[in-house]
Amino acid sequence: MKFVSGEILTEDGFQKGYLGFQRNKIVEVGKGSCPEKPVAKGLIVPTFVNMHTHLGDSFIKYKNIELPRNIEKLVAPPNGLKYKLLKEASENELIEGIEKSIAFMLKSGTSTFCDFREGGLNGICHLKTAIDLWNISSVILSRPEKLDYDKNEIDLLLRNSDGIGLSSIFDWNYSEMMEIAKQTKRKNKIFAIHASERIRENIDSILDLKPDFLVHMVKASESDLICVKENNIPVVLCPRSNAFFGLKPNIDLMEKIGVNILLGTDNAMLSNPSILDEIRYLIKNFKAFEIPEILYKTTYAARKALNLECGILGSNSKADFVVLDDKTLQPLYVSV
Ligand SMILES: [Zn+2]
Repeated sequence: MKFVSGEILTEDGFQKGYLGFQRNKIVEVGKGSCPEKPVAKGLIVPTFVNMHTHLGDSFIKYKNIELPRNIEKLVAPPNGLKYKLLKEASENELIEGIEKSIAFMLKSGTSTFCDFREGGLNGICHLKTAIDLWNISSVILSRPEKLDYDKNEIDLLLRNSDGIGLSSIFDWNYSEMMEIAKQTKRKNKIFAIHASERIRENIDSILDLKPDFLVHMVKASESDLICVKENNIPVVLCPRSNAFFGLKPNIDLMEKIGVNILLGTDNAMLSNPSILDEIRYLIKNFKAFEIPEILYKTTYAARKALNLECGILGSNSKADFVVLDDKTLQPLYVSV
């Protein structure tokens, strides 16, 4: 049996102690001093959940193209540069890019990711092929091939994925988007959208779609954020991606209002998909969070938002943890 010791992150904050584990399973959880020399000592936290990725564009990072720092020109469907490059890419190129991102996530302690998958059914297949041989969990939110509603296509997408993740209400015919949202909810699947990233979008129209979570809300007003909080809808922030486009979320205001803030890394062509790197960026550039709070948000709170199992780091549970240096937050040991 191996041991790790230090401060263990529980749902009630950090508690001093140690974990004993064997063959991917935690067999002993103790308080006080560790019975044997531990393999790592530090902050023991559940593996991270990346709430928002677009792994499909990972391959673009390796093309050494200077990307425009403009949301419309780069990532808005259907004419953004990203969509042109996705269309031109071979299957192998796409899948290899995704696998590189997966390896990077696992090495840095991210065991679960929620991907907004472009490219309809084909896009889902590419992602499933890429993750097949890796010990990583995914929540796949797909989207129609084109910006229009076809009931049969949505049925097919919902049968093959965990829900639907769309660009923004600005890109869509609203009534068609509403049909997609309703159909997704009827199947009890996740419906999520980007919101108020580049421009402020109408909050009532957004909330009428009954989204499970929103991504960005950079341009949201105080009253928009209050509505989001009152409706209990988490907001996923991707501050490194925002910074690429010269944007900055108002985290202080979100915190003051009590919005449930979660963290993602957005387009893999812009930022690597390590949640730890996003956390370190956040701590350096925003003063909003204490370390225990942001570690809680990226582990337990994210699992809750995606309805995933939260009974982790207990005796008999899967060894699914990371040990971090308590000062630098560098991973010292990753169990997965
Ligand atoms: Zn996104």
